[in-house]
Amino acid sequence: MKAPQWTDATRALDSAACILLVTHLQPDGDAIGSLLGFGNALRARGCTVDLAVDGGVPDFVEWLTGADTVQSRLNAGSWDVMVSLDSSDEERSGDCGIYGRAHSKTVINVDHHPSNTMFGDIHIVVPDAVSTTEIVQDWLTHMGQPLTLAIAEPLLVGLVTDTLGFRTSNVNGRTLVLAQELVAKGASLPQIVARTLNSKPYKSIALWKRVLNSVELDDGLISGTISRADLEAAGFDETGDSGLVGFLIATDEAKVAVVYKERDDGRVEVSLRSKPGYDVSVAAVSLGGGGHKQASGATIPGPLSTARDRVEPDLRTVIQNGS
Ligand code: AMP
Ligand code: MN
Ligand code: MN
Repeated sequence: MKAPQWTDATRALDSAACILLVTHLQPDGDAIGSLLGFGNALRARGCTVDLAVDGGVPDFVEWLTGADTVQSRLNAGSWDVMVSLDSSDEERSGDCGIYGRAHSKTVINVDHHPSNTMFGDIHIVVPDAVSTTEIVQDWLTHMGQPLTLAIAEPLLVGLVTDTLGFRTSNVNGRTLVLAQELVAKGASLPQIVARTLNSKPYKSIALWKRVLNSVELDDGLISGTISRADLEAAGFDETGDSGLVGFLIATDEAKVAVVYKERDDGRVEVSLRSKPGYDVSVAAVSLGGGGHKQASGATIPGPLSTARDRVEPDLRTVIQNGS
């Protein structure tokens, strides 16, 4: 992995009159946290900044300062610099990413996925970072940018959500030091936990009620399947699996957890989790997706039944190669 190009990146930003920030499709807490944390900081520095992600900001983080300034599509504008946040590849940043890349002179790629394809002109890719907000926080410190509450709150959202509340195996003392710095600026850890990790609509529970019936455990692999019929019966119209795969990997006997979700276009979203020692990102990359050792995903062609047949051999290999 190439060393982070902090100096080149800062120089590019400093000489930019207008900047575009984009993040990944179906944005999670780290995607929106890094978008708004960095966006609010650049605005505090007097920069002209546009923020965009396909579909806009999801409900669970719409209370963050600046969420109302995020564009859900781009069809006008041009920029000196586009910064891509938390996206491992170009496709992950959707139509906003396509438009932004075509209308920006320089692209800075800021991410923490080991599967990052190193797209763009300037790279700050730090696989050891627990979240992209950690990288943004380091960058702001490097720039000498003071952290206000409007910057600290989204940054803490990213840190908390990508570490599942400081519980993932990559968390270390420095993670807590960074969190402490954000809490000292007024960001509330209990409020963020309540609004992100500890919040689910009843339709998620209605979905789980149906889907838990499909769960199977076979030789270290636990799997669940979400069909269109399940989604319709539960009235579940949100992205993702509402945390199901994260719940399944807590099973003592499981090394790897997978949830297959049938999309309305017939393709299948594959969500993967693993115990430390087992690297599901290898399987995700071979399926055309990406992610981290313990949390990865891909979207693959359907139908559901053949998707399972395609994925399971790769997951068996992950289990065999792990320890
Ligand atoms: P999920 O299971 O959807 O929560 O995804 C877990 C992680 O896998 C995400 O944080 C991403 O890093 C990665 N991921 C999921 N889907 C994709 C995809 N289609 N392409 C690349 N990475 C993905
Ligand atoms: Mn993310
Ligand atoms: Mn992330």
